[in-house]
Amino acid sequence: MATTTNGPLESLEQWDDDVRARYRADRKKEEFRVYDDTTPAVVREFYKQNHALQTLEFARAKRAEYEPLQKAEMGIWEAMERLNALVDDSDPDTDLSQIEHNLQTAEAIRADGHPRWFILTGLIHDLGKVLTIWGEPQWAVVGDTFPVGCRWSEKIVYPEFFADNPDSQNPELMTRYGVYSEQCGLENVNLSWGHDEYLYHVTKAYLPEEAQYMIRYHSCYSAHREMDYQFLMSDHDMEMMGWVRKFNPYDLYSKSATKPDLATLRPYYEELVAEFFPAKIRW
Ligand code: FE
Ligand code: FE
Repeated sequence: MATTTNGPLESLEQWDDDVRARYRADRKKEEFRVYDDTTPAVVREFYKQNHALQTLEFARAKRAEYEPLQKAEMGIWEAMERLNALVDDSDPDTDLSQIEHNLQTAEAIRADGHPRWFILTGLIHDLGKVLTIWGEPQWAVVGDTFPVGCRWSEKIVYPEFFADNPDSQNPELMTRYGVYSEQCGLENVNLSWGHDEYLYHVTKAYLPEEAQYMIRYHSCYSAHREMDYQFLMSDHDMEMMGWVRKFNPYDLYSKSATKPDLATLRPYYEELVAEFFPAKIRW
């Protein structure tokens, strides 16, 4: 399917797998540098595109395009099935479908006794990848996200690739604060465009604030994992980032050999989705 091969990655999952490898639980700090040489060429190429093309102007334009939510009306479950079909058709060798990743994340959260909204967040957190339906290239759907409009953190993977980003030629955007100000609050900061930011806008009206943060910032590893960009955060952001950190291990480490049984789990999750969302929502 053309839409999902719209970039160098063999599948969207390849980026997720790469992040998992980067933050493997047993990975030592020193190994982080070695990572660069062992990464598949297509993943490097993917980051090269992502870092060169995610400008402040691009992020603003995509928000303006998608924020009115006028692309489609569909239910959560329909979005899940469409995403599954898209991703899996392009990647016959995938060992884990999108639905399975979503279910495993949710099931791990449920097993730890977390509240229902948290379990639901696990189930839906990657649904923003339906951006591929509307022809968005891989570099505008997945990848680590990062603030645009100010100097990039050195802790973003492959910082050297930002040299090809036109924003690097604009001195106003290359200061510590860029177009922002100290502790201006993350809601005033533009992040690179992708499935996190998109799903946040689609679902924010239905979910508690903790869930909104988990969805919006789950790929912003430089902020929630490497602890950078605190100078842009309000005290409230700092507190809420704790929830993003709470969520992250379920995203990274819930992958298991046993596939979740969709038929058995579906009634529980259909009820959970219906508790928070109407039958159809705007995308
Ligand atoms: Fe994700
Ligand atoms: Fe995920």
